[in-house]
Amino acid sequence: MRKKILILICLLTCIGLHADDEIRFNDYFEDRGLRVDFYFLGNAAEESVVIGRLVREGPWPENPDRILDAFEYGKYQVLVEDIASGRLIFRQGFDCEFGEYQTTGPARAGKKKVYERSVRIPFPKQPVRLKFESRDRNNVPRPLFAEEIDPSDTGIIRETVYSGDETFVLLENGAPHHCVDFVFIGEGYTSSEREKFRQDAEKYTGILFANEPYRKLKHRFNVRAVFRPSPESAMDEPRQAVFRKTMLDASFNALGLDRYLLTQRNHRMREIAAQVPYDAIIVLVNSMRYGGGGIYNDYCITTVDNERSGPVFLHELGHSFAGLADEYYSSEVAYEEFYPEGVEPLEPNITALPGGKVKWDSLLSPGIRIPTEYGKAERDSLSARLGRNRREMRVTLEAARKRNASSDEIQSIEKSFKKKSEKLGKKLDELRARYSDLEDKVGAFEGAGYTSNGLYRPMINCLMIYHPKNEFCRVCQAAIENMIGYYSSR
Ligand SMILES: [Zn+2]
Repeated sequence: MRKKILILICLLTCIGLHADDEIRFNDYFEDRGLRVDFYFLGNAAEESVVIGRLVREGPWPENPDRILDAFEYGKYQVLVEDIASGRLIFRQGFDCEFGEYQTTGPARAGKKKVYERSVRIPFPKQPVRLKFESRDRNNVPRPLFAEEIDPSDTGIIRETVYSGDETFVLLENGAPHHCVDFVFIGEGYTSSEREKFRQDAEKYTGILFANEPYRKLKHRFNVRAVFRPSPESAMDEPRQAVFRKTMLDASFNALGLDRYLLTQRNHRMREIAAQVPYDAIIVLVNSMRYGGGGIYNDYCITTVDNERSGPVFLHELGHSFAGLADEYYSSEVAYEEFYPEGVEPLEPNITALPGGKVKWDSLLSPGIRIPTEYGKAERDSLSARLGRNRREMRVTLEAARKRNASSDEIQSIEKSFKKKSEKLGKKLDELRARYSDLEDKVGAFEGAGYTSNGLYRPMINCLMIYHPKNEFCRVCQAAIENMIGYYSSR
């Protein structure tokens, strides 16, 4: 059995090397980036791409030995074809906020919106065809856009990439080609908060490398930061009528969701980042509020001063860097169908178990039952009752305060709700204890990807749902490790 596996690994390695041999980076590309600043335009039914500008960037920071993306992540992919030979010479998957917008009510009602996005390809030596593909609801890639790029085109912007911002190095382990290069960008830090940004960037570098698998692979990383001051601190909170003038226009209530924090200044963000070599962007927002966002192969964003900011940062980076899905779900709220029923999600950490097959079967705990029963119905019911009790307490207390109830009465209301919460919490703890032997097992646990039924996650606890010690499950760790390998291996 072991021998068979060895032969298979050898075969795969040979095929991999062969493919890389065929398309040599230097045959087709200069050691530079070409940034394509474009716009997504459309609604749920229609989508189109319009190129804004092409910008010649500094040295290519990504792995020149990995120009054809081995992953199938992201709703979109960018492809580059050599016109002379017709060969595919570059491919990379990505996501965009626009893809999420398409699943919302306004988009379904036909309202069109425009979203900025940039992708970076290596600078071609000869004319190429730039293509975008978009996956349909069955995840089949469909042509979306194609345009020729002639590298001698005088319309390509060839300015210096240096915009005059302050840059600093937090960790350096080697040349960008074979390291993973992370860049922190500050958002909502005024010029007098420069030192705070530096400290925050150091703090979050520490948080990153205290967590597996980043800790054991720290030697494969470079981390840099770019500081461009904002006129005002923090970010917009439209539902609180708070608007702040900041460099990236970061804002809560993205896509109408309370804690969803994103920026729509994608082109400016890329221009700022391009002053250093980077593979992945992390935007740190100078605020105490709770929230963040992460979009695959685009960027992640998090506030820095909330007590939960560390886990939020790692979770969102899981989305943006490693293409991980949210493993959480709600047994109460009916989300709009984010993952169409019967279609296997692209992400490595959730599955619909098509034909009973588990995507992460090589990591399954020996003898584990699939799907893995873990008292879900009872857990969901207790969690729902806890949630309802919390909401009822809030409403009852609000009403009591409105009618100027005495402090004794308010205290007694609080006491009775808290007593009920404690009772439910205790039952939940007992239930967890009953299944505690499953907590370190990899199986297929129902409830993932915003869906209570029909989608499965690898372990009970994970940073992509909730983990008491803020750790990734073993499948997510393996997926992150694969991505680190993609950027750093030879
Ligand atoms: Zn996980």
